[in-house]
Amino acid sequence: MARRSLPKLSMNSTPSPRKAERLVAVKGMNDILPPDSARWEALEERVRALMRRYAYENIRTPIVEPTALFVRGLGEVTDIVEKEMYSFEDRLNGEHLTLRPENTAGLVRAVVEHNLLYNGGKRLFYMGPMFRHERPQRGRYRQFYQVGAEAMGFAGPELDAELILMAHALWIELGITGVELQMNSLGQPEERKQHRAALIAYFEAHADQLDAESQRRLHLNPLRLLDSKNPQMQALIEAAPRLMDFQGEKSKAHLDAVLAILQANGVPFVMNPRLVRGMDYYNLTVFEFVTTELGSQGTICGGGRYDYLIEEVGGKPAPAVGWAFGVERVLELMKAQEASAPAIAPDAFAIVTDAAALPTVCACLEQLRSKGVAVQLHASLDGSMASMKSQFKRADASGARYALVFGPDELAQGSVTVKALRDAGVAQRTLALAAWSDWADTLQSKA
Ligand code: AMP
Repeated sequence: MARRSLPKLSMNSTPSPRKAERLVAVKGMNDILPPDSARWEALEERVRALMRRYAYENIRTPIVEPTALFVRGLGEVTDIVEKEMYSFEDRLNGEHLTLRPENTAGLVRAVVEHNLLYNGGKRLFYMGPMFRHERPQRGRYRQFYQVGAEAMGFAGPELDAELILMAHALWIELGITGVELQMNSLGQPEERKQHRAALIAYFEAHADQLDAESQRRLHLNPLRLLDSKNPQMQALIEAAPRLMDFQGEKSKAHLDAVLAILQANGVPFVMNPRLVRGMDYYNLTVFEFVTTELGSQGTICGGGRYDYLIEEVGGKPAPAVGWAFGVERVLELMKAQEASAPAIAPDAFAIVTDAAALPTVCACLEQLRSKGVAVQLHASLDGSMASMKSQFKRADASGARYALVFGPDELAQGSVTVKALRDAGVAQRTLALAAWSDWADTLQSKA
């Protein structure tokens, strides 16, 4: 095979000998900075604990997948595949690749590839970045993070319900209120086929009221017309044939069984017959958790059944159901509702003025840390030891409860002064370094 010649990588600027041009992040892709990142970590920890309680196992799949996976999995006539994917050709071997716009397809690929369902179903969860080239706005980014949970290889409605209960439990735990659960059923492919024919006939009869996008999609994927946001088409969409009316006893019984479990657990929901979701892979149950507090991007979590996707991706037919929530939106909602912000301050801030004392001081701090105490050591930009006064200022700004002063007097006596920074009533104490660990124990019991 002839060697492919590589396209040249272009650079926007030649480095100047004096000052390098400042580079900034790609539009719609955010840095997650401290102290905000502490909220992310706290949420991730809660998610892990939640998943353990429901026996979901962690899975990590690549961020880049073959483009064909999403085209086949999500459906060719969907917003994501038509307009939003970051797809590219690998310069080295010509492979068609895409930054994952969602992770259900990737998980299904992995489950099939590694034959994970060989001895029964699998409950899985993931967390990570997804990429969609959408117009950035509040709650909508080009790189965003999802947490997802998927139960693969189980057909029963109790799995649909379990996943919804799990998300519901998470909102409660996070202190989020006012989230509405919207439910719908998309039925089975045969029922959708009949509904599709009825939809086409209906919209054809009103073709003059369709916008250009809807006219184009009418014969390709008429279900997509139902989630059009065009205000001029809303009355028309409202009166369109309903998928629910085309569903047989079996499909209805599945939905009823899911709803019965939700009701028995006191999980409120509303039926939304227009809820169709943005990907083609769903059947039977679909649902979204929606808030009115985040402006136009109010869906914080969405999911449903996808009993045919595993087969579509080349696996042995197996049913599946799952959801994903957007981490940015959930955190933003928590902020809007002032739900509990995690404490990020260290327990103690160490002040030391003599560089020669650092080996001793660092050893003392390590003892504290090994007992679970969070300790921050003062440090300066140029590596010099700052004055006692300026270190105290830093200690105060850090939010720490205690300053640990390793001054010249203390070090001469083999001791440390512990000063409470947040509680004026607590007297300053000088402790012998030999009894250091005992102090850590009293601190832990107070925390
Ligand atoms: P979807 O995969 O489209 O069902 O989305 C699941 C969840 O991911 C949504 O409910 C949002 O919370 C979140 N999400 C989807 N797209 C974006 C985006 N562009 N920016 C931020 N969050 C998003």
